[in-house]
Amino acid sequence: MNSAATVALMHRRAGQGWIEVIAGPMFSGKSEELIRRITRYELARIPTQVFKPALDDRYAVSRVVSHSRLSTPAVPVSSSEELLKAVEDRTVVVGVDEGQFFDGDLTDVAMMLADAGKQVIIAGLDTDYLGRPFEPIPSLMLRAEYITKSLAVCHRCGGPGLFTQRLGQSDELVVLGATDAYEARCRRCYDPQEPQQDTLIDLTEVEARV
Ligand code: ADP
Ligand code: MG
Ligand code: ZN
Repeated sequence: MNSAATVALMHRRAGQGWIEVIAGPMFSGKSEELIRRITRYELARIPTQVFKPALDDRYAVSRVVSHSRLSTPAVPVSSSEELLKAVEDRTVVVGVDEGQFFDGDLTDVAMMLADAGKQVIIAGLDTDYLGRPFEPIPSLMLRAEYITKSLAVCHRCGGPGLFTQRLGQSDELVVLGATDAYEARCRRCYDPQEPQQDTLIDLTEVEARV
């Protein structure tokens, strides 16, 4: 058993709560890892609840779904406060996906839940498409007992994908999408100023097919 698992077991024996953050770029397996952990708790008959931001309805409204199509039921909520109110007394493990789409109160809510003995696992993007800290994930990482940093495979060269590259013209911070709107990139291939010709060609091809 690795040391993180040993410490987690100690926490559980003592009935203590804790916070874990699973952070990384898009396609790095954050949702997959969250789903894997939740599934294992359920196998052990430990009561879980999973939450997601209501604005993320890409695959399903009330499920967390990974790019590899693994999924688990999830409650859509519009704010951290709504999340806190929805946590049931009997729940031991609270999972949250797409934590970066929550308001800044998520850190306080996670602290309250952990102080109350819950095990809180939050997955989310640590940086936005310009490589800036994507709050509240960085703040949550400062309050977390455990941090799992996940890397994707760079879509360009196969190297360690640390960044999320946006393909397209939008300046909006939140543009929901998957393969067509974003790529994982390594530090050599990532370029927030990248010219958009590739994307324009792709879009023309997509339109031609429709
Ligand atoms: P995240 O939640 O971090 O966006 P997911 O858990 O939804 O990631 O998806 C991870 C899965 O995405 C991988 O298991 C793999 O099947 C698929 N995938 C597609 N493109 C990539 C990539 N460039 N790097 C890693 N995984 C990828
Ligand atoms: Mg995800
Ligand atoms: Zn690369």
